Amino acid sequence: MKLDVRTIMLMLSGINLLGAGMMALISFHADNIKGARQWAAGHCCMCIGIFTSTQMSPEWPLWIIGSVPLVTGCGFGLIYNGIEAFNGKRCHYWFTAWVGGQMMAQSLWLGVWLDDIRMLVIANSILFSCVFGACALNLMVKAAQPLKTAYRLATVSFAFIALMSLLRALNMMSKPAQEISLFAQGDVNPVFLVLGGLSQLSISLSLVMLITFRLVSELREKASHDSLTGLLNRRSFEDESRRLLARAIRTGEPLSVIMIDVDFFKRVNDVHGHQAGDEVLRRLAALLQTIVRSEDCLARYGGEEFCILLTGTGEQGAAQLAERARLLYSELQINWKNEVLHSTLSAGIADSFNNGMNLTALVDAADQALYRAKKTGRNCIALHTAVSPPAKYA
Ligand code: GH3
Ligand code: MG
Ligand code: MG
Repeated sequence: MKLDVRTIMLMLSGINLLGAGMMALISFHADNIKGARQWAAGHCCMCIGIFTSTQMSPEWPLWIIGSVPLVTGCGFGLIYNGIEAFNGKRCHYWFTAWVGGQMMAQSLWLGVWLDDIRMLVIANSILFSCVFGACALNLMVKAAQPLKTAYRLATVSFAFIALMSLLRALNMMSKPAQEISLFAQGDVNPVFLVLGGLSQLSISLSLVMLITFRLVSELREKASHDSLTGLLNRRSFEDESRRLLARAIRTGEPLSVIMIDVDFFKRVNDVHGHQAGDEVLRRLAALLQTIVRSEDCLARYGGEEFCILLTGTGEQGAAQLAERARLLYSELQINWKNEVLHSTLSAGIADSFNNGMNLTALVDAADQALYRAKKTGRNCIALHTAVSPPAKYA
């Protein structure tokens, strides 16, 4: 297979130009996503470096001949920095400076002074392999779907190009020095470049995918969670509860619902201000989070109302948990500016034995019980079976 090395390198430079343009647009419009700027700059440097190296001639001044590998190397380093930034870590820009400097030193020493193109290709390939390998390692992080897929694709792309670079270095080591020139039309060099170009494309696409999936995850998180307390909002509580209900119907396990409401919360707002009220809601949410199990579903149902769906638990078990929450909250003293905030809560409890496997019926029944708790003087819990006669649904 005879391939023209210069043409392939021009294509590589074009891929990087496209990558730079895409990343620049993304970093402009989705400026909350970290890493896109470094990736835009990295692609840009690689595009300039690779393009200029295809046009390079020995008559060019030494400072230009040295600058080309410097710019290309900095491009690789910036891609690595982008991954650090995307992962929320501090960027080690010295690494970029080192890769650029190392590439420049290798080109001047091996390429210009020693005129040993074989050693230059070997040294550069080993350097690329290390940088891409470091990128792949940094992409091996734990993430939930759909981000996990993008992370895996990016890891594989970087690992593949790292392996290709290493194989290229090994291949060069086995060849006689006089056969090697930078744009050799041999059989192997172009194959490496084509595969390298494909992995470069895969890298650019997987970086765009990482950004897109991060945006999707953030939007999902915002749509399903309450921004004040971080708990599920009412809509996702209903979605999650339906899933748990379907499972409970299959397994025959009971379910129960606790509806919680802060007593005289309006007073907290009126006396201490809305921000103090917000702090009370945040602290109550945090307290509830510490006492529910991971298999239960806790949500902010409305203004100062919280709802818990307990799996595998009947009315009595739910009552114990509600009483624990009531007691802990009644002891909670919240320091707010120079004041101490204190309030209590009431809770209503209903279960599937007495109300069936129906979310609306369960929430309604818990609501009725809560109304009774409020009527009986607040700072207490009430069972739905005490409000209406038990036991139709076994
Ligand atoms: P009760 O004991 O009968 O439940 O009395 P209450 O004062 O707690 O109930 P009421 O329904 O009269 O008042 C609830 C208040 O909760 C009214 C509303 O302004 C306030 N509220 C709702 N959402 C928020 C919020 O996100 N932040 C703050 N600070 N207040 C909120
Ligand atoms: Mg209320
Ligand atoms: Mg209230």
